[in-house]
Amino acid sequence: MPAEPRPERLGVLGGTFDPPHLGHVAAASACLEQLGLDRVLFVVANDPWQKTPVRDVTPAADRLAMVEAAVRSIPRAEASRIELDRGGPSYTVETVEALAASARAAGRPDPEQFLIVGADVIGSLPTWHRAARLAELVTLVVVRRPGAPGPNRVPGWRLEVVAGPELDLSSSEVRELLAAGRSARALVPEAVERYIEAHNLYAVRR
Ligand code: ATP
Ligand code: MG
Repeated sequence: MPAEPRPERLGVLGGTFDPPHLGHVAAASACLEQLGLDRVLFVVANDPWQKTPVRDVTPAADRLAMVEAAVRSIPRAEASRIELDRGGPSYTVETVEALAASARAAGRPDPEQFLIVGADVIGSLPTWHRAARLAELVTLVVVRRPGAPGPNRVPGWRLEVVAGPELDLSSSEVRELLAAGRSARALVPEAVERYIEAHNLYAVRR
């Protein structure tokens, strides 16, 4: 009998990616390398339900296109449209369940899933949809962010802490720079910058 294929070590990096930037690229690369992941999926949130009431979010199709451009520079990283195809609010637990189900449907073992988050996100985990179930399904991977050091433990979660290059940048900062008419060239992959320019995203509307 052929040996059972070993489960894939799959990183799941969810985000609004409005826009994706070099901090996301560095975080994914650090996780691929330090945890020996086979693949990292950049999962683009369809409706980031905790953000949409607070600010206008760029259409999902543009955010997906920018993520596709960003991952081209990272071997073993892919853009995932799974939450766009599902529609509605984006619940990570449903994404993780769906990724396991699709591996099973293809006759592969359930992947071992690593949920990658920046350290700023930890405080909000208890507010996530079906957080306790999610904690059973994944290993939480916390990537340190400047001002948000990695914790030693997160109660209820299996934890790995990854020390990335700690890039002090965020999508908010990129949006603010562009809205002020300045360049974000140093903060985003070149292909993302080209997309932003071509589609006139984030410019001040007059
Ligand atoms: P915003 O400023 O709009 O919140 P963001 O830069 O935090 O944007 P998100 O799309 O919200 O980007 O982030 C997706 C994931 O990537 C989150 O888990 C976030 O913590 C993580 N992340 C974002 N920027 C960095 C960074 N510079 N280093 C490590 N992780 C990051
Ligand atoms: Mg954020």
